[in-house]
Amino acid sequence: MNFELNDEQKLMVETAAKIGQQYGLNYWRDLDKTGKYPHEIWEAICSAGFCGIALPESCGGSGFGMLEMALVVEALCVGGGGSTLAQLFMVNPIFGGIAIDRFGTEEHKQSLLPDLVAGKVAFCMALTESNAGSNSLEIKTMARPHGNGWRLSGQKIWITSVPQSTHMLVVARTTPMDAVKKRSDGLSLFVIESKRAGVSHHSIEKLGTNTLPSSSLFFEDVDLHPGDLLGTIDKGWQQLLEILNPERIVTTAGLTGAIDLALNIATEYARNRKVFNGTPIGAYQGIQFPLAQAYAEGQCARMMNLKAAWLADQRQPYGTEANMAKLLAAQAAADAIERCMQTMGGMGYAKESHLERLWRDARLFRFAPVSEEMILNYIATSVLGLPRSY
Ligand SMILES: Cc1cc2nc3c(=O)[nH]c(=O)nc-3n(C[C@H](O)[C@H](O)[C@H](O)COP(=O)(O)OP(=O)(O)OC[C@H]3O[C@@H](n4cnc5c(N)ncnc54)[C@H](O)[C@@H]3O)c2cc1C
Repeated sequence: MNFELNDEQKLMVETAAKIGQQYGLNYWRDLDKTGKYPHEIWEAICSAGFCGIALPESCGGSGFGMLEMALVVEALCVGGGGSTLAQLFMVNPIFGGIAIDRFGTEEHKQSLLPDLVAGKVAFCMALTESNAGSNSLEIKTMARPHGNGWRLSGQKIWITSVPQSTHMLVVARTTPMDAVKKRSDGLSLFVIESKRAGVSHHSIEKLGTNTLPSSSLFFEDVDLHPGDLLGTIDKGWQQLLEILNPERIVTTAGLTGAIDLALNIATEYARNRKVFNGTPIGAYQGIQFPLAQAYAEGQCARMMNLKAAWLADQRQPYGTEANMAKLLAAQAAADAIERCMQTMGGMGYAKESHLERLWRDARLFRFAPVSEEMILNYIATSVLGLPRSY
C-alpha cells in the first residue's frame, strides 16, 4: 500500500492550507458572532479551483477525485474554520456537483456545473422531514403528476444554507409507499431554483454552525418541469446513496481537520501555561494523555476516511468505510475538543480561545448528516449480519 501523496496532491494541500489560514480563526469567530455566511473564503476556494476538484474538466472541474477532495477539505478546515467549513463542500460540490455529474442531463451539466465551480451557483439539499427523521423512506413530500411534469407539496426541516442557495436538490416521493413493491422505490430527485414560486423558508435558532443558516422549507404546489428531474423517476433513493456517501467523506475530513486545529490551540497553551512551580501544565500526564489519545483517534478516523475516498475513486464499494470513518471522527472530534477545552481551564470557555465554537459546531456531526446510532445499526445488520431491531 502506498500512503504517500504525489506532488500534485501535496501542492493542493499546501494551497488549501494557505487559504484556510488566510481566513483563519478570527475570521470565523467574527462570522459566528454575527451569523454571517462565509462568502469570502468560499470565493477564494472557488478561485483556487477546489469547488470543482472532483468534477470532470469538461464542465470546468479539475478531474481529480474524492481523495483529493478529502485532503483539501481537511487542510482548509485546520486553518481556522473547523468542521463547519466542510459543510460548504457538502452543499456545493456534493449535492450540486456530484449529483448532477452522476445523474444530470447534458443540459443540467452545461447550464449548472461551470457556474457551480466558479461559485456563481450555490446549492442546498432538502431530504429531512420532521415526521420521518432518520427513517428517510417515510418522507411525505410528494411530487404528483401534473401537466407534462409534477406538482410538489410538502415540508422539510433543518436544510442548510437555503437563503444563500440559487438551486436546491429536492427528494420527494413520486409514487406512494403503498403502491411500490420495494420500500426504497418511489422516491425521485429534482433540481429546482430556490426562488421558484411556491417555495418558502424560515430559519431555525440553534446551538452552533451559526455561519450557515438551517431552515424549515415549505413547498406549496410548486410546478416541476420534466427537465427538473435528476436521473430516473422512482429510483431516487438508490441515486441518493451515491450522493450521501461522498457527503460522509467530506464530513469526516472536516472533523479530522477540526481535531488537529483544536489540538494545535490546546497544545500551544499547555506548553506555555505554568500554574505550579514553573512546570508547564502540558508536562502533566493528566493533561497529556487525553490529548495524545485524541490525536491517535483523529489519525485513525482520517486513515479510514482516506481509504473510503480511495475506494470511491476506484469505483469500488466504500459505504461501510465512509460510515465507519464518520462515526469515529464525530466521536473523536467531540471528545478531542472537549479535552482541549479542559486543558485550557477557564480560557477554554472564552470565545477568544475559539474552542467553544469548534465544540458547538462539531457536536452536530454526532447525529448529522447521519446519526451514530444509524451507522451502528448499519454495521451491525449489513456487515455483521445481525438481525434488525426496527
Ligand atoms: C444543523 C443541521 C443541519 C442539517 N442540514 C441538513 C440538510 O442540509 N439537509 C437535510 O436534508 N437534512 C439536514 N439535517 C438533518 C439531519 O440529517 C438529521 O437531523 C439527522 O439525519 C437525524 O435525524 P433527526 O434529527 O430527525 O433525528 P431522529 O431520526 O428523530 O432520531 C433521534 C434520535 O433517535 C435515534 N434513533 C432513531 N432511530 C433509531 C434506531 N432505529 N435505532 C437506534 N437509534 C435510533 C437517532 O440516532 C437519534 O439519536 C441537518 C440537521 C441539523 C441539526
